[in-house]
Amino acid sequence: MSDFNKQTIHQQENHQQQTLDLSIALLERPSVTPDDDGCQDILSKRLSQAGFDCEFMYFGDRDQSGEHAEVKNLWARRGTTDPVICFAGHTDVVPTGDENNWTYPPFTPTIADGYLWARGAADMKTGIAAFTIASERFVKNHPEHNGSIAFLITSDEEGPSINGTVKVIEALEARNEKITYCLVGEPSSTDTLGDIIKNGRRGSLGGNLRSLANKVMLLTRI
Ligand SMILES: [Zn+2]
Repeated sequence: MSDFNKQTIHQQENHQQQTLDLSIALLERPSVTPDDDGCQDILSKRLSQAGFDCEFMYFGDRDQSGEHAEVKNLWARRGTTDPVICFAGHTDVVPTGDENNWTYPPFTPTIADGYLWARGAADMKTGIAAFTIASERFVKNHPEHNGSIAFLITSDEEGPSINGTVKVIEALEARNEKITYCLVGEPSSTDTLGDIIKNGRRGSLGGNLRSLANKVMLLTRI
């Protein structure tokens, strides 16, 4: 194996380890909506060191709970020109329910059977860790890159989703700051990485179906 290949593999392993380390640091925090529980501080610290301007945007009433809780959002940007490519994600997770029903404790990240187990491991702290490490690596190699790289991270995605991304976008638009492209780190793949690409989500529909007959033929079209 050439020195070049050895070096490349070593770098890949190093980036994978960094991604795993950052994932675990985020997963250890019980950031149930709308509480970010310090996840965005971890990210902003890293991104600041990589040359990003980091800004926290708070929306909602600080003194109330539920829908009116204070929500912390992070807007980080490196560069001042267009185009702006934005990585979007959320640090909040849904409640765990009875923790006794978990194979491994939800906020004690555990590597077992080749998987990383924790609440938010798939949706979507590992995604955030991956695009954070990738961005750090990119700006290290291309410190004078064209355009801007941005992060829009919210702690209000799994819950009411009132004081999260929508409010940040409104605040950005009010000062004429626009996002050109956006990549969302949500888990979409079914069998292999990248086997599904979603080009947007316009909401969701849920309901309960009660059958009054023994056999029902159900046809749906969305
Ligand atoms: Zn998600």
